[in-house]
Parts: sequence; C-alpha cells; structure tokens
Amino acid sequence: MAATSPTNVAPSKQSPSASVTRTTPTLTLTATPPQIGIGESTRILAQAPGAASVSIDFRGTAYHMLPQPNGTFWLAIGVPLDAPLSSGVLHGTAKDAFGKTLASADLTYAVITVERPVDYLSLTEAESSVLTPDASAHEAEIRGVQFAQFDPAPRWTKLFLRPVNGEITTYFGQGRSINGGPVGAFHTGVDLANDNGTPVQVAAPGRVAWTGAMPIRGNSVIVDHGAGVKTGYHHLSAISSTVDQQVAAGDVVGLVGATGLATGPHLHWELSLWGVNVDPMTWLTTPFGPTA
Ligand SMILES: [Zn+2]
Repeated sequence: MAATSPTNVAPSKQSPSASVTRTTPTLTLTATPPQIGIGESTRILAQAPGAASVSIDFRGTAYHMLPQPNGTFWLAIGVPLDAPLSSGVLHGTAKDAFGKTLASADLTYAVITVERPVDYLSLTEAESSVLTPDASAHEAEIRGVQFAQFDPAPRWTKLFLRPVNGEITTYFGQGRSINGGPVGAFHTGVDLANDNGTPVQVAAPGRVAWTGAMPIRGNSVIVDHGAGVKTGYHHLSAISSTVDQQVAAGDVVGLVGATGLATGPHLHWELSLWGVNVDPMTWLTTPFGPTA
C-alpha cells in the first residue's frame, strides 16, 4: 500500500484536463416591450453563445429568429387584434449547426388592451353594394397570394416613414359599425386622408411583391421589407410600381385615390408581421428591426 505523501496532491501534478472550464450553453430571451398591446408589435432578442439557430414558439406558431453579425438573434412579431388579453409564455430553443438542442428558455409576456373607439361609418347604397360575400371571398383569396411567402433578410435599419401626410380619419384596430349596424370587422390599417393624386411614398426599403386591384381595398401595392414585414398601400388612383421592383424609403409607388370601398380619397396603409396586421403608426416612432 502506497503511503500518501504531500507530493501526490501538489498542484503541479494535476492533470491538464482539470483546468478546462466547461460552460453550460445558455439562451437568454428578451421582449421589447414585454407588455404587448393588442394589435401591436414587439421585438424579441436572443443571446445564445455558440448557437447556430434559435427558434421561438409564440402563440402556437414557430418562428426562426434571424442572426445578427454580433452573434445575437432578433425577430419582430405581432399580436393579432383577436388575441385574448392574457399573459403567455414564449418558448425558445437554441440549436447547434447539427440541429442538436443546446439550450431552451421561456419568456413571459403580457397582451394588454389598447383603447380604440368604434368607428361609425355611413355608406351609401352604392358603397355598401361593394361589400358582398363574393367580394370578401375574392379579397381573402388575393391576400392568401400576397402572404404566401416572405423575403427572409431585413431590408430596413431605420424607423419607417409615413407614406402620406394628412388627417388620420380611422385608426388601426377600430371596430366598425356600418350604417348603425353591429360592430363588425376591425380596421386592418390606418386611413390617411389626402387629395386624389397625392404621391404615396413607400415606408421603408423593400421589394414590390404584388400590385393590382382588390375588390374592397381597391388598387393596391404590397411591399416586402424582409424579415416577415410587409406594407400595403390601398385605394390608389394609380399604381406607379411593378412587381419585383426594388424600392428605397420614400420612393413613390402610387397615388392616393378612392378605388374599392372608400368614401373619399385616402390612403389605407397596412403593416403586417408574418401575415399578422399590426398598427403601422407605431413603426414610425419605435424601432423593431435588427439591433446590430
Ligand atoms: Zn381603411
């Protein structure tokens, strides 16, 4: 039996592997803001050192977060107007280049109310006649095409710009009562009133993804800004852009009009995140894009 001696435990005799530091992979998620107004947007950031990808599950939908040059991941997501007012948990998973899960994390968020008064709209018989079940079905079919695919990489880095000046006649998300009837569908965009023929400027860089006439929204241009963000410009009197055209913020894509269902000339401006319509006006003052 060997006797223990002080030399056996001397630091110089330790195996080199004993000094290797093993770090546990981590995933840290943050949402800005963490309290998301109904019909509003939030930006999710993920820190996951060593991860090749991060995916999140938000309200039952899986999203792949987008990598940033500094090694973090980001994504803008939106809460639809018909979401319940409650808190929820967003689940994130970080994986390595081989698809092996490195770490997972949960982020608690809250969906909070936003006061939006009812919009009482008076339509003439001729205007009401546009709102047929056939027109709604055709419009839904066209929207299916417009939101069938998304350009992956974000094309914008700055705040979005307002496409036209003028009074806001109907805000995003207002419930609508037509000719005193029950409150029906929520308003899917913001109405910016201005004269017929006023140039409509695109809100951010992107690619023109769709142009044409819709039964209710009228002459329309849809621009894909990448990273799930699309803007729509509706009721145009003229379209001055073509599909696949690359546009810079401020480029004119059409002219204000009153085509489709409109009681007067205005721009109906929409912004959607992965097909979920959110309040576009928030994007004029709050950054939701990449952070690095
Ligand atoms: Zn509108």
